[in-house]
Amino acid sequence: MKSNPVDTVLRKNIIDLTSKLIRFKTCKDNPSELKKIADFINSFFSPKKFSVKQFAKNNKHSLVITPRGISNPKLLLLCHADVVEAADKDFIPKKKGDWLFARGSADMKSGLAIAMLLLKNNPDKKTGLIVTTDEEIGGMNGARVLASRFAPDFVVATESSDLNIVVKEKGLLWIRMIAKGKSCHSSMPWKGTNAADMLIDAYLEMRKSIPQVKKASWQNTMNLGRICAGNSPNIVPDEAEMVLDVRYTEKSSIAKILGIIKKAVKGKNIMVAVLGKEQMMLNKKNDKNIAELGRCIALAAGRKPLLTSEHGASDARFFSGKSSCVMFGPVGKNFHAEKECVNISSAVKTYSALQEYVKKNC
Ligand SMILES: [Zn+2]
Repeated sequence: MKSNPVDTVLRKNIIDLTSKLIRFKTCKDNPSELKKIADFINSFFSPKKFSVKQFAKNNKHSLVITPRGISNPKLLLLCHADVVEAADKDFIPKKKGDWLFARGSADMKSGLAIAMLLLKNNPDKKTGLIVTTDEEIGGMNGARVLASRFAPDFVVATESSDLNIVVKEKGLLWIRMIAKGKSCHSSMPWKGTNAADMLIDAYLEMRKSIPQVKKASWQNTMNLGRICAGNSPNIVPDEAEMVLDVRYTEKSSIAKILGIIKKAVKGKNIMVAVLGKEQMMLNKKNDKNIAELGRCIALAAGRKPLLTSEHGASDARFFSGKSSCVMFGPVGKNFHAEKECVNISSAVKTYSALQEYVKKNC
């Protein structure tokens, strides 16, 4: 089948812009590259047609780009320009057949290129673009700050999603627990209270409510990420610490998880501190914006998208609750790993689907 000339130009533009973006080594400890890519994105948009606001918080640069005269876009595209660490050679894009290989090709410089081109080609539509440079480290200086300033109908993070629509992500809770016991010689443990045992008992109690999950499934999980106590085998430790990471679904909540922990430490000398918490990304059932995006994807990709869920958290969670909010993007592989790559045809289909959405709805 011969490809149509519009698609050929679009395909070349996506490959060229993605490749340019990949060459910036935008890792968290490289503030000059984070600034350079923000400047590059800024200069991509004509100031006559677009308002570009660029700012930095704690050295993390963000941009808000909207067509002139449109301050409250209906559709907000959400992208991050930072990537996780990689060797220098991984910042040189390599095309093999229908795939583009490099750090950030899938996560998410192809998605960023698609969003930039889409906005540039639609200067009269109620569409905006937010680009941040701290998503990989939690988004606290980028999306979290910006989410409080916008209430669009629909937020689409153009992250790779295999041309499906990610409609929910788990929430998370980080907990530190410190047990205080009583030290003594290990030959007469009855004279003391072992703080490590206290934490292990509490942990096993919690496991009854949050059991180990051995294969991918949509349920709460708990990871014991850090545990430490004692210095010597012949001393009963009087202090112990553990740090837990709990991921929860819509059947649970932060309050419910805290309730489980409270029950597990009841009557024990264990201090509990919340180190971090994040809400879920969640949407209403039968959300109109998501259904409409689904129609546009079916038209562009020739098949209906699946509505899927993700175990990890992304910047989109900051918009959850006030806007419909999803992730939708091309087919990608090997995220955060060697041989990361994005499928080029799927990137073209992503663009076409979003163009259809913008044409009809913005
Ligand atoms: Zn990402």
